[in-house]
Amino acid sequence: MTTRRPIIAGNWKMNLGVAEGVALASEIRNRCSRFRDIDVVVAPAATSLYPVAQRLADSPIGVAAQNCHAEDKGAFTGELSPVQLADVGCRYVIVGHSERRALFGETDEGVGKKARALHDHGLIPIVCVGESLAEREAGETLDVVLRQLDAGLAGLQPDEIVRTVVAYEPVWAIGTGRTATPAQAQDVHAALRKRIAELASPAVADKVRLQYGGSVKPDNIAALMAQPDIDGALVGGASLTADSFARIVAYENKDA
Ligand code: PEP
Repeated sequence: MTTRRPIIAGNWKMNLGVAEGVALASEIRNRCSRFRDIDVVVAPAATSLYPVAQRLADSPIGVAAQNCHAEDKGAFTGELSPVQLADVGCRYVIVGHSERRALFGETDEGVGKKARALHDHGLIPIVCVGESLAEREAGETLDVVLRQLDAGLAGLQPDEIVRTVVAYEPVWAIGTGRTATPAQAQDVHAALRKRIAELASPAVADKVRLQYGGSVKPDNIAALMAQPDIDGALVGGASLTADSFARIVAYENKDA
């Protein structure tokens, strides 16, 4: 029985305008605020961060950005800094999402720098790791995710690692409808937690929250959350409607 507080985050990616995002946030607030034993987070597109954060300001629901730059400010056209994201009301930032690694050249080292910068400004990084299908089929899953984990946490002190959220997202399960089995996900989560124990300490590893991501839906969340090392989910497609996201958040409440 875990004592870690579950955390479910919805990654809206490059979807929804401001009015749509605020409306979705309002519905999620109405449906999810009563669940007090779980952290609920939404990650709107950058254009909606401020209005969504305003809409959720008096609620327990947190707001995440989907990316950041590691520097505080400067000549980095098109980028947003942790300082700016904190300023608009973000509490979390997703870093190292596989789409950013695959499509925008994000490196393991760069993810580590972003995680470091986020802690410098009191923000919580959600550090994503995950193997491609080719890597899984080549038997390289643990090599890949542990390398990504090592780099993502490299610059952090133990107390910062405790506050960091790690999301295991097998690339072959993202947006494909193909979910890792609970046992496959648990195997990787257990390996991640063991590595955190080696990098920091068993006490730290015991506190770090590990999310699973990859085609999470209302009908598979409960089996995933029943695994001893799965503490939450990072949800893409199913976070875009209040009904499916709220049913994921309410995974223990059959009447929700
Ligand atoms: C994601 O992109 O983080 C994700 C898990 O997407 P989906 O739930 O749509 O697979």
